[in-house]
Formats: sequence, C-alpha cells, structure tokens
Amino acid sequence: MYKIPYGKQEITNEDISEVIKTLQSDFLTQGPKILEFETRFAEYVDAKYAVAVCNGTAALHMAVLALGLQPRQKIITTPITFVASANCVLYAGAEVVFADIDANDYNIDVVKLEALLKSHPKNTFAGIIPVAFAGCPVKLEKISALAKAHGFWVVEDACHAPGGYFNDSKGKKIKCGSTVYSDLSCFSFHPVKHIAAGEGGMITTNSKELYEKLKSLRTHGITKDAALLKENHGGWYYEMQDLGYNYRISDINAALALSQLNRADQGIARRHEIADKYRKAFSDLPVKYQQTEEGVFNAYHLFVIETDRRKELYDHLFSKGIFPQIHYIPVHMQPYYKSLGFKKGDFPVAEVYYEKCISLPMYASLKDEELEHVIQSVRLFFK
Ligand SMILES: *Cc1c(COP(=O)(O)O)cnc(C)c1O
Repeated sequence: MYKIPYGKQEITNEDISEVIKTLQSDFLTQGPKILEFETRFAEYVDAKYAVAVCNGTAALHMAVLALGLQPRQKIITTPITFVASANCVLYAGAEVVFADIDANDYNIDVVKLEALLKSHPKNTFAGIIPVAFAGCPVKLEKISALAKAHGFWVVEDACHAPGGYFNDSKGKKIKCGSTVYSDLSCFSFHPVKHIAAGEGGMITTNSKELYEKLKSLRTHGITKDAALLKENHGGWYYEMQDLGYNYRISDINAALALSQLNRADQGIARRHEIADKYRKAFSDLPVKYQQTEEGVFNAYHLFVIETDRRKELYDHLFSKGIFPQIHYIPVHMQPYYKSLGFKKGDFPVAEVYYEKCISLPMYASLKDEELEHVIQSVRLFFK
C-alpha cells in the first residue's frame, strides 16, 4: 500500500554524518555551523547578508520588528498563504490588510494592490508582505516602485521559493531572497519546504544596518561588541540594548540545513521534472494549473491543481494511499481573523480558488513509481 504525502524531506547519509559531526563538536548552538550556513545561503540567493533563526515564523516576526513596525500600523499581505505571513503583523500589535490574489499565478494581485493604495490616503500603510506562493516568485519590481512612491517597506515571504527567480525589466535575473526589490526576505526550513533543518528559518538583506539589528533581536537584544557598548565594565560585560527574543537556531539544525543546501538545485530540477510529468499526463483533463509568467522560474514548493470536484478528488486520492493537502484555507476565513472583522465574501478570487485547489505530491525524493501511481489515480478519478 502506498503512503505518499504532498511534501516530504529527503535525508541522505551525508546529511546524517554532518549532524553527527556537529554532535561530536564543542558547539550544539551558537557555534560555527550557523555562520557557515548563513554565508552559503546568502551566496545561494545573491544577498549580502543572512541571519538564521529558529523557524520561518520567527524570521517574519523579526523582519517586521527590524523594520520598526509599530502597534496599529497597517500591513498588506495576501489571503492565500500560511497564517504566519499575517500573524507576524499581529504579534507586533499592528493591523493586517489583505489584497486579493491573481486568478492565474495565485500571488497577490498588483492591480488590486494599486486600487487599495489609491483608495487610501498616502501614508496609510507601513509595509507589505508579498508571498511567493507555491514557489512562484512575486515579480517585485512593480511592488517595490509602489512601495517607494507610497513610503512603505517590502518583506518578501519566500518560504516557498528558495532557488526561484524572475527576470526584471532590464533582463536581470532576480533571485528570491536577493532583496534587490525588497528590504528583507524570509525563508523556512521546515521539513516540507525545499531545505529541511528540522525547524529553521532565515532572513536575507543587503542592508548592513538591518543585518546588525536582526542579529541583536535574535538573541535578546544583547550585544558584547566593544564598539557598540555604552559602558564597559570588563571582559564579562554585555548590554541589552533592545527588547529582543531567543530566536536562535541550533548548530545541529544548521548543520543539517547546510548539508541539504548542497543539493538544493538538484531538488529543484527534480521538482520541475515532476511538474512537467503532471502537466503532460493531465493535458486532457478538466483541471487548471498555476500559471508561471514568462521570465519567471518557479521553485515548485507545491503543485496545485484546480478542479470543480475537489472534495471528491481529495477523498479518492486518500483511498489510494495518497495524502494531498489544501493550500490554503484563506487566512481571512480563519475563526481568529473573523473575530477581527473579516468575513466570507471579502476576497472572492481567493475564496473561489480555495473551493477548487488541491496540492498533489511534490518533493525531490518522490519516486517515479510513486509519481506514476499519483498520475494514474488522478486519471482514474476523471474517467
Ligand atoms: C512555512 C511557512 C511559514 C512559516 O515557517 P515555519 O518555519 O513553519 O515557522 C511562513 N510563510 C509561509 C508562506 C510558509 O509556507
């Protein structure tokens, strides 16, 4: 009997030996693996700086704090995302505003975003958190221009999209996380994501100032750096200069993620192979796919199809040992968000999408035989 989830990590012998080496070293946390992982990840996404943290949610929370988010400020995001993209705003006592999605690529709809900005006075919004949904990069150039014109910051939630990129209007390849058109970018290393750390996250930036701020926030706002101290009482002396958190990642997790990063591009190549096979196999079926625009390279965290018979397909696949998932229940329809005043009907494109979407298995270690079983099971359903 098959047991095929929608997403899954792949752990090699090399990954295991890297973790063991760290277990046998002097540092389980705050050691050399963290900086090594940060340096390599920054290179991978074309950013100057990277700060590793304990998970993607902490990355988002620290990102908005580093940008100075204040209580009651308004931040825009998409309703089709994991709840963390919006929750990080609430953690800071600020307010979430949604803009509906584009029906083709399922990312935040820039036309709706412009309409939202037009219908409010100029300084209404303090920031925006666009999400590269399912691995499809948000073309941030336009959003960055709007942000400059309206004076708000941009945090790219790239948790689905390490390795993704788009070509900008000058033909330059802009990688997710490069922060060419954003202030900060956030990633997650939860096992269903591209790179598994167990739990882990990352923030990337090209700003030295934000980098320093993030490093401080990650560990209680404490510094020991002699150049930054206000006083100095001796070798033991440190100062807590900001209200920070313990959002550190351990060296054990960083060692695993670093080992996984070595084959990240291989994983993306396999994901593309799987996506191509699905599309070819379903070309005659009444299903719709996420459209990736010309010049955009999808990292395929998920492979979503839309069908009018979503619930039946879900149950059918479940009976075949395949465990699809629904990404996502629109955030504004969650009971907690309803208690804040949102309601069904607020974002109709997201809601129609939610009625139809289903994520099929998509991960690098999915075997050909398993992929074939998924394909045949989907085809059987529509026969
Ligand atoms: C996974 C994910 C997060 C949160 O990451 P964790 O590591 O699980 O905290 C945030 N945003 C998106 C879009 C995600 O998929």
